[in-house]
Amino acid sequence: MQPGVLWQTVLGEIELSVSHGNFVTWFKNTQLLKHDKDSLVVGVPNIFIKQQLERKYGDLIAQTLDKNGVKVATIEFKVSSLAAKPVVEESEVVVAASTASRQAPAPKQTKLDNSLGHSYRQGLNERYTFDSFVVGASNELAFAACQAVAQQPGTKYNPLFLYGGVGIGKTHLIQAVGNTVAGKNPDAKILYISTEQFVQEFVDALRFRKTAAFARHYRTADVLIVDDIQFIAGKEKMQEEFFHTFNALHQANKQIILSADKPPKDIPTLEDRLRSRFAGGMSIDMQVPDFETRCAIVQNKAASHDSELDAEVVEFLATSLHTNIRELEGALNQLLAYCEMRGLEPNLTIASSLLNVSKTRPKHLSAKQIIERTARHFQIPVEDIVGPKRDKDIVVPRQVAMYILRNELKLSFPKIARELGRKDHTTAIHSVEKIEREARTDTSLRTAISDIREQLYA
Ligand code: ADP
Ligand code: MG
Repeated sequence: MQPGVLWQTVLGEIELSVSHGNFVTWFKNTQLLKHDKDSLVVGVPNIFIKQQLERKYGDLIAQTLDKNGVKVATIEFKVSSLAAKPVVEESEVVVAASTASRQAPAPKQTKLDNSLGHSYRQGLNERYTFDSFVVGASNELAFAACQAVAQQPGTKYNPLFLYGGVGIGKTHLIQAVGNTVAGKNPDAKILYISTEQFVQEFVDALRFRKTAAFARHYRTADVLIVDDIQFIAGKEKMQEEFFHTFNALHQANKQIILSADKPPKDIPTLEDRLRSRFAGGMSIDMQVPDFETRCAIVQNKAASHDSELDAEVVEFLATSLHTNIRELEGALNQLLAYCEMRGLEPNLTIASSLLNVSKTRPKHLSAKQIIERTARHFQIPVEDIVGPKRDKDIVVPRQVAMYILRNELKLSFPKIARELGRKDHTTAIHSVEKIEREARTDTSLRTAISDIREQLYA
């Protein structure tokens, strides 16, 4: 096989076994520099990609080569100018104009006291604006919906329900709606509240016999924003109260905006009637921003601190902190503060020494852990995944578990079959192949696999 073709084949296979983000970050811009019977030299764009490939992906690369009939004694990674540098400017990221954004002003919190004194802006933090939000594929739908709602609250998507993991910009966007409406309409009564605080206020209202005032306060909002509504799960009285508040607002065409870490159907112990109310408007799934978007967020944020970072530092941060923008911001702030105090220019060496990036794989990942994680992800009992049932909602998770067992633990097919309570190892072969094939086109399947993987290595 031609060296170029060989490497393309290897990359093609690796692309299927790691998350898309990881592939783009670590593999996409590599190339084969040299290949003879003893050694193989891979060109990589920079030192931290080299380190990451050596530490984390060496085995995977060797195995993939092996699968393609190539056995070499050593694989070397070499920083090479030939290996294309990922060019951030080329991305399709739209950076909302934000040159004017300065240091965030102190949050303008007007807290409710026990007398439930009214205020028209409750809980809004001016820092969260549409301008300071970086839009990419993972959040463009949510961004567009929030902007539409901010233009005409109460008319379009009601309720607007944003859901997704921690630190990916849900609070930022729903607050931006509140801020935008507030800017356009000074008389609007805009109430933002976290569900935990909402519950606390409700409990206080019960205790101080002020439930009527509590209800009045929230039922007269023009825009009610309740963040992290999953925390209402299991709180029956609060759910009852919120149901009535919801209906009162909805009937009066007042805007309701909710966020949660999962879609309404997956929030446990949520009354059905609330579940159907929540899902009755527009629900939008937000994902972790992709690599290019994360780079743009870092650049944007650095610019707001009047600091300009080298592309390699930006990329380093964006690759090291890839699941949570809050953590990414934290790392950037830490780096900027460290350098400012010492009068240094931020560079890769400082960034990598500040950040402990040795998030290597735990050595004792077991088949049992993989099966449990997979079952938990799909919210089915472990007994079912290893049991005889053949319903689709059980079979697919079972196949995913087989696929992950194969990819992460390199178990043999007979062993995989046994782990999942199957007698016939050809089932395991077909399952792994099927998931491999479907993951190429099915993004939700890919996301599920990478989520499970992230959790296993978290
Ligand atoms: P969530 O509510 O989803 O947990 P947040 O909205 O609190 O996340 O976001 C965490 C931090 O990351 C905030 O400081 C927020 O401003 C920032 N952030 C998240 N996504 C973006 C983005 N696309 N552009 C700019 N900042 C972002
Ligand atoms: Mg939040």
